[in-house]
Amino acid sequence: MGRQDGAPAIAAGSSFPNNAGDVSVTVNGVAAPLIYVSPTQINFQIPWETTSGTSVPIIVTSNGVASSPEMVTIAAPAAPSMFLSEFVNGVAWVTGTGCVATECAVQAGGTYQLWANGLGPKNGPSQDGVGAVYNGSLTPLEVPGSPASCQLTIGGQAAAVQYCGAAPAEIIDQINFVYPSGVTATASYVDATLTIGGATGRFRVPAPATSDQLAQQLLAQMTQAEKLQLVHGAGGPVTNIIPLPRGAGGYIPGIPRLAIPALYFCDGSVGVANSQAPATALPSAIASAATWDPALAYQYGKVIGAEMRAYGLNVNLGGNVNLGREPRDGRTFETKGEDPILAGKINAVHVRAIQDQQVVGCLKHYALNDQETGRTTANATVDERAARQTDLLAFEIGVRDAAVQSVMCSYNLVNGAWSCENPHLLNDVLKGDWGFPGFVMSDWWAMHSTVAAANAGLDQEQPDNQWFSGLPAAVQAGSVPQSRLDDMVTRILRALYQTGAMSGSGAVTMVDTAAGQAVAQQVEEQGAVLLKNAANQLPLNPATVGSIAVIGSHADMGVLSGGGSAQVYPTGGPALTEGYPSVPGWSQVIWDPSSPLKAIQAMAPNATVRFDDGTNTSRATALAASSAVAIVFVSQWTSEGMDMPNLNFTDLIHTRPIDQDGLVSAVAAANPHTIVVMENGGAQVLPWLAGVSAVLEAWFPGQRGGEAIADILFGAVNPSGKLPITFPASVSDLPHPTISGPAPPSSTLPFPVNYSEGLLVGYKWYDAHNLSPAFHFGFGLSYTTFTITNISLADNLSAGNPNFQVSCDLTNTGSVSGAEVVQVYLGLPAGLGEPPRRLVGWQKVSLAPGARQHVTLEVDQADSSHPMSWWSPAAGAWQTAPGDYTVYLGNSSADLTVAGTLHVGS
Ligand code: BGC
Repeated sequence: MGRQDGAPAIAAGSSFPNNAGDVSVTVNGVAAPLIYVSPTQINFQIPWETTSGTSVPIIVTSNGVASSPEMVTIAAPAAPSMFLSEFVNGVAWVTGTGCVATECAVQAGGTYQLWANGLGPKNGPSQDGVGAVYNGSLTPLEVPGSPASCQLTIGGQAAAVQYCGAAPAEIIDQINFVYPSGVTATASYVDATLTIGGATGRFRVPAPATSDQLAQQLLAQMTQAEKLQLVHGAGGPVTNIIPLPRGAGGYIPGIPRLAIPALYFCDGSVGVANSQAPATALPSAIASAATWDPALAYQYGKVIGAEMRAYGLNVNLGGNVNLGREPRDGRTFETKGEDPILAGKINAVHVRAIQDQQVVGCLKHYALNDQETGRTTANATVDERAARQTDLLAFEIGVRDAAVQSVMCSYNLVNGAWSCENPHLLNDVLKGDWGFPGFVMSDWWAMHSTVAAANAGLDQEQPDNQWFSGLPAAVQAGSVPQSRLDDMVTRILRALYQTGAMSGSGAVTMVDTAAGQAVAQQVEEQGAVLLKNAANQLPLNPATVGSIAVIGSHADMGVLSGGGSAQVYPTGGPALTEGYPSVPGWSQVIWDPSSPLKAIQAMAPNATVRFDDGTNTSRATALAASSAVAIVFVSQWTSEGMDMPNLNFTDLIHTRPIDQDGLVSAVAAANPHTIVVMENGGAQVLPWLAGVSAVLEAWFPGQRGGEAIADILFGAVNPSGKLPITFPASVSDLPHPTISGPAPPSSTLPFPVNYSEGLLVGYKWYDAHNLSPAFHFGFGLSYTTFTITNISLADNLSAGNPNFQVSCDLTNTGSVSGAEVVQVYLGLPAGLGEPPRRLVGWQKVSLAPGARQHVTLEVDQADSSHPMSWWSPAAGAWQTAPGDYTVYLGNSSADLTVAGTLHVGS
């Protein structure tokens, strides 16, 4: 019966009568409360006194004439019945705030009402919505035992019942409940039960609404001004809210009327870069990629997400997945390296972990923002196939794997159009081909227009209202359709629902620094890459080492971090703030509080450990000469807003630069046991490599870096990181030996950055040109040895089975535990113009000494990374070409064995 059928035939506010007009009903001699009476229909309630399981007479009396008894057996205790909105599937009518007349799009945590009959004896309905107190009798009780005795389950989950009884001023019953979380559904409804006093009614209720439905429902309630409020930041000179609350880098006030929370945007590629409060300084994001470990990448993202939430910040601006195709790029430390599949997958895990903390994640900077030189005027030119298969692929993986809810468009132009008003990038590729449901925000002050940007697919201006202040007029004039504005807002609302940020408390709580630091140390231990270890110089033996010289890079105090908007202010405070660098830059140089010197001394308590700051080469050399081992820390500060002039260790910090390469060479000449630890953001050139015994790439190691480095140097941890970026032998081997820059006389006009290398990004360039880099992509040493045997390929590709499997036996043949990364590369059929090989899969495996494991890697042709396909511009689609595919397996891009050949097509 629909609710409308219950229109009061009996006056509201009174008890349910036992007779209406001249009609009454008895059940086993007890007068039944009447609910609805018409000439053709009488609805009555079985009195609660009726004993179930017995046959009882029902007699209707009208005008004093009694009917013959109708014998009815109440098989079980009388079950409450629901008013339905949909008869076929038995779906109950659910109402709530904002959906009184229409059916609610329900969501977990929302409060709603169900409408029912038969919850209990009908004596005076409560007028105040508060259930009567049970006083031991059924008068004036409505539901025996108060609301607590109403047990509602939805989709198997218990729902909290807040009220259960007569509807105030209505003749029907009502249940107020909170929709439970954890309800999953395969249809638009889910099963529900209501049990009262052992009587169970079965019915269905609407399944939780999709984020899209919720967003639509909310949009329908918004005024035009409220809509406009959500599509631009409220920081900066135009709206003039400075500084922004909560240390955020972007801010949009909430709309309390509709319970839309304020949005606090905060950077966070390598930890929360809140301008006010400290956070865990994680190792560089590229170190996370160097772990090749998605599970650990999840922990990395979780630290960022959890700390964002603790600070009440709900939109993360991390997710930098620009490819490290230009290793001099000052932001390489924020990226996940040069390979689109490795970078895309690791980044997607970071984003997923962040969004799991009810924080909106972000991918940036879309797209081809791969150098800082002239970043606001660079015009990246690239052909469509190369774009789709390189930089864009890393973004596509993030959209598909992580369901990321925001994307930041970049400062630069792509093929002649500004990224933030580029209809091909935004509308065609991102929202069209990839089906991105979230919102696109501009990089900070990256816009150049109102109408063009809005119509190209930009959804939100940041951090201010410089251009979108023109939206109201543009919408009124029709140059931006109202539907476009509604779409912008829907995308923002949907992102909030989808991630849970809509209902997040927003409360500021304590940051769990211990948990963050544990992850920071683990990521560094797993991501540091051992590049050289001549004559097993490492690990050092604390019992025999005797004396150690620690030289350079403030290793007595801390470890270096990267600068710019990703700069984290570490918990506990920086070890040292060196101020602004000598090169023009807007970011200060910060050393994280983790002293390698102290950690080394702690590992070797009986050794003499002495420090020299490295500013005077002869003094440092003398210390090295008088020590058993010399450990030189070299560092390369890099930052957003600048690129490195070259790949040597170049001191950009001090006005009187320290010649670090010269220092290493001199120390190595004085001590044959020289170990170099590098703190930097990406690839480097190592002119002194031949002269030193060991090299450890520590990246920017984060605030537990000192401890992690010492653990590796002394073998408490066996290094297992692998390079996510190629280290060239020389900058002259790069696709672009010189970085393109703005052309004089105008530095404000766009200038071309021509990615003429096409598909040959990173290792693919070196492979295709038979160049030998200093260190290959995927390379990294261990203190143990591994063998890979019994490689086999299961060629079971068919139309119905798009997967293939590569297997091997991996054996730890050394004497200590360690982890190896088994890597699978694929060569596509000749004639396609593809690079020789591409990474398509990997697995990191830990093994005890002597242990062997059979490892099987599955490559799924349908994966978001399109492992077997190429982008056909003519077809406008990914295609898998017929022909032979060579499958390689090994432990770096240059140390591979052919596993077999797959054949696609006839
Ligand atoms: C950077 C972005 C950053 C934004 C907000 C810009 O300068 O390019 O990566 O998210 O500032 O801080």
